[in-house]
Amino acid sequence: MGRTLTEKILEDHLVDGDIETGEEVGIEVDQTIAHDLTGTMAWLQFEALGLDEVQVEVAGQHCDHQTYQPDYKVSDDHRFLRSAAGTYGAYFARPGTGILHQVHKENFTAPGKTLLGADSHTPTAGGLGCLGIGTGGLDVATAMGGAPYYLDVPEIVNVRLEGELPEWSTAKDVILELLRRYSVKFGVGKVFEYTGPGVETLSAHERTVITNMGTELGATTSIFPSDERTKEFFERLGRPADYVELVPDEDADYDEEIVVDLSDLEPLISCPSMPDNVVPVREVAGTETDQVLVGSCTNGAYEDILPVAKMLRDREVAKQTEMIVAPGSKQASEMLARNGLTAELMAAGVNISEATCGACIGAGHVPASDSVSVRTFNRNFEGRSGMEDDAVYLCSPEVAAATALTGEITDPRDLADELDGLEAPGFEYPERYIGASESDIIMPDEAVDDGLVKGPNIDEVPLKDPLGSDLDGPALLKMPDNITTDHVIPATQEVSVYRSNVPKLSEFTLKRVDETFASRAADADGGFLVAGENYGQGSSREHAALCPMYLGIHAVFAQSFARIHKSNLINFGLLPLTIDQETYDRIDQGDDIEIVDDAVTAVESGQETFTIRVNDDWEAEAHLDANERERELLAAGGKLPHTRQQFGDA
Ligand code: SF4
Repeated sequence: MGRTLTEKILEDHLVDGDIETGEEVGIEVDQTIAHDLTGTMAWLQFEALGLDEVQVEVAGQHCDHQTYQPDYKVSDDHRFLRSAAGTYGAYFARPGTGILHQVHKENFTAPGKTLLGADSHTPTAGGLGCLGIGTGGLDVATAMGGAPYYLDVPEIVNVRLEGELPEWSTAKDVILELLRRYSVKFGVGKVFEYTGPGVETLSAHERTVITNMGTELGATTSIFPSDERTKEFFERLGRPADYVELVPDEDADYDEEIVVDLSDLEPLISCPSMPDNVVPVREVAGTETDQVLVGSCTNGAYEDILPVAKMLRDREVAKQTEMIVAPGSKQASEMLARNGLTAELMAAGVNISEATCGACIGAGHVPASDSVSVRTFNRNFEGRSGMEDDAVYLCSPEVAAATALTGEITDPRDLADELDGLEAPGFEYPERYIGASESDIIMPDEAVDDGLVKGPNIDEVPLKDPLGSDLDGPALLKMPDNITTDHVIPATQEVSVYRSNVPKLSEFTLKRVDETFASRAADADGGFLVAGENYGQGSSREHAALCPMYLGIHAVFAQSFARIHKSNLINFGLLPLTIDQETYDRIDQGDDIEIVDDAVTAVESGQETFTIRVNDDWEAEAHLDANERERELLAAGGKLPHTRQQFGDA
């Protein structure tokens, strides 16, 4: 039986397990990336591993999410990240160099490699035939130390592309079409592998637009073959040696097939406030628009901004509308400037921003109250723009430019009928890739040798002791269904500046549910959390497990857990135990709970059902669903102590 591209890369990197079984496998990681919000903790965790240098081929540290430095804490973080990268042998992209996925793509992504990123849009790399997977900072820290990355063998979906994109339709419309047809949950546990005759009609850059936003389908990752179009891209980038051909076998067997005829696609737009809320642009045409933003890791490349510049040449942004262009990298900014396009955009009334994530996470360019913002980004969840009741639409750069010119959501095909001389810009590469990357990326051999520089807001990473045999304590907090990681640790500016200072950050734990929780937990000598269904849904934020661990929580009893948060609890040594409705109803906040079994023996022996005694009065069952590897992590006190043990033993 032939192999898919995904199977080829997984097999090439397999260090534990068998992909035929469909169960969890461990793979070797070639490259890692992290950004400023995830990187500080990842480097503190790496420091705790006690290694001298990173063990992967390429490790990258970027500063793109919070380039604005409102006080010393952010500047301290940036300085710490530079010093950590230099100390341990990673490259460091200075603040302002651009968004990690764009910068890594321009400089380091390579076909056939595995890339683990502490950011959900790491699958961008799949457009170049690289298996890019987004995960938490602790996984990245241990991978930098040489530990395998574990994942459940994904289902592989063949997305067969036929035909060719018509004028005014773009790569963004391909992924919007998939989101329109399916949903933000459709891709969970799946890899989307693109095949078919339509693949060769797409440039390597356009492919990265599609794989980037495959994340919004919930996919583990997305990948294109590495072929002549990929080769062309690497030659243009001046990195021809990084190219290798990589295609699936002709008789590869896929779990599922989807067909998309590119010729049928029309300009699409995602309406507020979910990326899969997609309709043809014409359905919402005429919606008055206050703000248009072009940029992000999806559509912030030179190749994305060039069509906008062509459409705006000798024209003017509508008077009632503000337009911002934030290039995805400083290299893109520099090429736009050198080719005279920055001046043209400025002359059209565009506000040119620095190369940063910025507005994508509500850090700047927050929309006005009760207004419409049209963006080329990948996410439009309510409030993400920084405005609670926002109305954010997602579309291609061409639709964004047409909208900026008219001040209302506009299908560019209709504008072309009205405006003399407005032609479809089509896809075009720059004549030559030039740029700032060389001066802005500090390679390990160029690093300043100043050791780890930690400001007062950067504290050591806490380590949990191995699991104890006798676990008891109070039910410190009883919570309802659907508690999110945002309830546990919010991502607001006020809180997130303490991301490298767990003792301080812990003071905010579950404050949104109960103001006094953190102080009660700190006063108790260990305890438990009790929750209803779907505990820990939302973002994959690791601090939502790390802070409860720091406060001495032994276990969370919940009716069910969100998948990623459950694995984060295990990674930080907290037992995720499920209970039934009756048990949930009977436990009151403040009750004394004792796990009757010897916890260490039970976890290590694979025991699934635990007995709990409440108030020395009544007993109930709690269940642990964890595989052998996860049980080892729990027994060791979490992934960090476990990895330290392993490195110590090696
Ligand atoms: Fe994440 Fe937005 Fe930055 Fe992309 S541009 S990495 S989606 S914050």
